[in-house]
Amino acid sequence: MASEGLLIPEELPPDHRSGYVSVIGRPNVGKSTLMNAFLGQKIAIVSEKLQTTRNRILGILTRPDAQVIFVDTPGIHKPLHKLGEFMVETAKRAIPDADVICFVVDVSTWPTDEDKQIAGLLDSVRAKPIILVLNKVDLLNAEDLASHAQAYRALGNFAAEYATSALHGDNLDALLAGIVAHLPVGPRYYPEEQITDQMERFLAAELIRGQALRALRQEVPYALAVVVEQFQERREGVVYIEANIYVEKESQKKIVIGRGGSMLKQIGQAARREIEAMLEARVYLELWVKVREGWRKKDKELRQFGYALPSKKMEV
Ligand code: GDP
Ligand code: MG
Repeated sequence: MASEGLLIPEELPPDHRSGYVSVIGRPNVGKSTLMNAFLGQKIAIVSEKLQTTRNRILGILTRPDAQVIFVDTPGIHKPLHKLGEFMVETAKRAIPDADVICFVVDVSTWPTDEDKQIAGLLDSVRAKPIILVLNKVDLLNAEDLASHAQAYRALGNFAAEYATSALHGDNLDALLAGIVAHLPVGPRYYPEEQITDQMERFLAAELIRGQALRALRQEVPYALAVVVEQFQERREGVVYIEANIYVEKESQKKIVIGRGGSMLKQIGQAARREIEAMLEARVYLELWVKVREGWRKKDKELRQFGYALPSKKMEV
């Protein structure tokens, strides 16, 4: 890895700040949109559908004065089946790891039971500063904003609050400044370019999954996982990627492949274009569709599918 982007410790300002920021909130409040706005890259899947962000994604924002390591946790929701429980656990475990917690809510609506549940969870980790992000402020008038904001404020003890529109980019600079201000003084943990280097493989899988969900819409809702089996730079500027799309049933496999392979081709072409843009390289993408019955219910296989929680010290 190139290291030109890395400041040697003496070059960092003495008050350089760094740390982990856990982004928490129920599904659909705008966590992924917020992450993408900060990181300027399509690293978390944004979708109208709930729960597309199942993996815990590290996005690293490196500035001269700070390094912010974002953790995009799945929304906490009622444990309906195993995957639900796993997601709740993931979110819970992400909380103590973080230096700062961003509790994202959709201020265009009143707090839901899920918001209250999450606020309750956060109450047990009061040692960490919690920033209340009142998102989707573009959707309501000042009067409703005031009353809704008051209702969210009452859910906990917040170190700061920001009314934002992740979609339109409103007040995000202020939010970021607030996040940085609450991070401890510390060094850069990752080189500047790390964001792509560490995650290329994983991002490729996310982009494929995002395109598959888009192409399939209602047809194969969430029973879909993508694992990148091979990721090789075969020549300068040419990357070969082989990935498996896992579904739960034979009938879903047929849908993903489509008539004469047309659906899979469409997914592959769209994903390839996105991966090429991300890598700035030509990509050969080979996709396979495989059936793993009931994978959503099996803990062991969840790990294999990459839902395992990376530890803070993980070599990335
Ligand atoms: P997540 O489930 O919390 O990650 O939510 P997403 O980031 O996937 O966003 C869910 C939906 O809300 C998407 O359709 C976004 O475009 C939309 N959204 C996110 N932030 C805003 C916002 O500030 N204003 C409006 N109007 N829509 C937003
Ligand atoms: Mg999301």
